[in-house]
Amino acid sequence: MTPRIEVPAAARWVVETLESAGFETWTVGGGVRDALLGAASVDWDFATVARPRDVQRVFRRTVPVGIDHGTVGVLDEWGVLHEVTTFRQDIETDGRHAVVTFADRIEDDLARRDFTINAVAWHPIRKELFDPFGGEADLRTGRLRTVGVPAERFAEDYLRILRGLRFAGRFGMEIDAATWDALVAATDGLGGLSAERIREEWVKMLGTPDPTPGLGLYRESGALDRVAPALGRAGADAWRRAVDLAREVSTDEPVLRTVALFERAMAEVEREDLARGVATWMEGLRFSNADTDRAVHLLATPAELPRAEADASIVRRWLAAVGPERVDDRFALVEASIRAGQAAPDCSDRLRIARETLAGGPPLRVGDLAIGGRDLIRLGLKPGPRFGDLLEALLDRVLENPSLNTRDALIAEVTRRGGLPEAPPEHG
Ligand code: ATP
Ligand code: MG
Repeated sequence: MTPRIEVPAAARWVVETLESAGFETWTVGGGVRDALLGAASVDWDFATVARPRDVQRVFRRTVPVGIDHGTVGVLDEWGVLHEVTTFRQDIETDGRHAVVTFADRIEDDLARRDFTINAVAWHPIRKELFDPFGGEADLRTGRLRTVGVPAERFAEDYLRILRGLRFAGRFGMEIDAATWDALVAATDGLGGLSAERIREEWVKMLGTPDPTPGLGLYRESGALDRVAPALGRAGADAWRRAVDLAREVSTDEPVLRTVALFERAMAEVEREDLARGVATWMEGLRFSNADTDRAVHLLATPAELPRAEADASIVRRWLAAVGPERVDDRFALVEASIRAGQAAPDCSDRLRIARETLAGGPPLRVGDLAIGGRDLIRLGLKPGPRFGDLLEALLDRVLENPSLNTRDALIAEVTRRGGLPEAPPEHG
């Protein structure tokens, strides 16, 4: 029985246009796989016998997105880009890169794909499924297998290890024994991959709605020891709690999920050391500076909300330490810990109080003070590094008692202090 796959009109048009010009063309890859699973595919890829130059000739509007590896972007009438790639064949691989030539047959193109479930082609005009490696059956029975000899396929490109773990996790599939054994044996090869490719895979794996199975497979296979060694070393209990917490963090927040993992899995590590370690790890994987800053800030600032009965000044100090601009990230992690059943019993109250305090708009930053550097100059103080210390000292007073945040009160305070804060102790 041939399954029926509904291909959107624009994707049909791409295939029809090329076929009318005499070029055999198929939809392939993740789009076909997801459709066979009954999921809505957004990402339709095309494989064609047409060479890139032919594709550029056949369509009016094209973009040379990856001509070198045979990919031309085709713009449809709505301005949506479709990636059309000429049939390809690997002639040389080294675990990181491949030397690729164009091929004339769809079967050659499918043979270079990683897993059987990703090596199925669908012809939307002829309504024909071309599935030489049994990908459709593997999807039905939930079995992940490489196309061809597993050890060879991983050695050609070690990224396939991480892709396999991600697909098996995301689709709840069992990894076939031969594929699993070869995958585990190949994990040493992960060290040779570029940081960027590893990071992208890590982020995609964490971007699956429930990352639990994927993370479990990372750990079980030994891939975690390569990708995030510190997490690989965590004890079983800490790891389980870490995964439970990460799952409760929003799916589209891979950085927050990453922070959740480190915070829970390495709860016994000094927070400062943890922040430093994670910074080094993220820089190594070439996370953006913004992502790294965001994670490190969370790890370097207090995680635990003040108790519900704590004095209001303690709540303000906590908000000031976490930073009003960044506190939503911490709130999100606290909410996740409540959902994961890992929070203190009064945690919802703590959260409500912190939010109410923040909403009240108390002064929490030096910039919120009723006086600033200019006022200090007008008071006759010389600008210098001590200014910052003085303003911090004023903020400290205001965090204790926000009603002191008036010009008069703060100027009085400056005068009372003789203009400058006590000098820090000298170090020889
Ligand atoms: P998703 O986009 O949902 O992550 P996908 O299967 O579409 O999954 P892509 O990275 O978009 O993954 O790749 C498209 C197709 O290209 C895959 O389905 C697979 O057939 C092939 N492919 C991608 N990466 C590799 C690889 N490293 N080795 C072999 N084939 C690959
Ligand atoms: Mg895709």
